[in-house]
Amino acid sequence: MKIEVSNLSYSYNNGKTFAVKDASTIINEKDFVAIIGHTGSGKSTFIQNLNALIIPTKGKVVVDEFTIANKIKIKNIKKLRKTIGTVFQFPEYQLFEETVEKDILFGPKNFGFEKEKLEGLASKVLQIVGLDDSFLKKSPFELSGGEKRRVAIAGILAFDPDVLIVDEPTAGLDPISSIKMMELFKKLNEMGKTIILVTHQMDHVLTYTNRVLVFQNALLQCDITPLDLFNNLDLVKSLEIDVPNVINLTHLVSKKYPKILNYKIKSINDFVDAYKEVISLWH
Ligand code: ADP
Ligand code: MG
Repeated sequence: MKIEVSNLSYSYNNGKTFAVKDASTIINEKDFVAIIGHTGSGKSTFIQNLNALIIPTKGKVVVDEFTIANKIKIKNIKKLRKTIGTVFQFPEYQLFEETVEKDILFGPKNFGFEKEKLEGLASKVLQIVGLDDSFLKKSPFELSGGEKRRVAIAGILAFDPDVLIVDEPTAGLDPISSIKMMELFKKLNEMGKTIILVTHQMDHVLTYTNRVLVFQNALLQCDITPLDLFNNLDLVKSLEIDVPNVINLTHLVSKKYPKILNYKIKSINDFVDAYKEVISLWH
């Protein structure tokens, strides 16, 4: 199942200004796509159009049998929302039931899951997000920020969407929790889910994703692989984005060992392997 976005524009003020302007792209099944760009560049607006949380002012989004466009009534919007699950930028606002268990089962119940399918489901998805059964009976409001986020993600995973959209899921988390969360998305992607990740963490973009959409002032400026993007320092500069630490490190080391630039380095582990090889060639 792919998501085809054609000339999508969205305005919050009847066309006076556009939060997203004329964006076109295709997100393929099993893609792990990063969406990056400065605050206010249109990332959250863009993703909310993908499952009709908001409706394009102009242009359209096509997902399977669904066409999301102005003045077109979507039949069976529930099915669309079950296919594409979104975890909002501030998922703490997504939690509202008395217990974590009820919160997680809200989606599946709403989508008509049968009783037998609900049995043990909350426990299973909590485990996937790295929380144990002691959370089931807790109130969502007594959890830490990171735990709330995990519960919100569990609530989406509970109805098993094909596409998972996550808006800045690691913002404000400590580095270890961030990596755990990224490893979770990696695992879900390997299980066959499409992942669409809005993030400001460029190292995560490089390590985990296979495509990057870069927004700048409401425009989808660039649709590229992370390696092609981050190894083109002129492009990175013109898009006003940060360079992942491991790319900076590689460029620094390349002053002494130029061959290191031939390696497709996507993570600190890749860097260590490449570094060992180039220094052994040198000595
Ligand atoms: P990002 O997620 O990249 O930070 P947004 O999509 O949230 O960007 O915002 C894009 C533009 O739309 C910004 O100028 C922002 O102020 C505006 N905007 C976002 N949400 C709303 C809203 N609910 N009402 C009015 N303007 C909004
Ligand atoms: Mg946003």
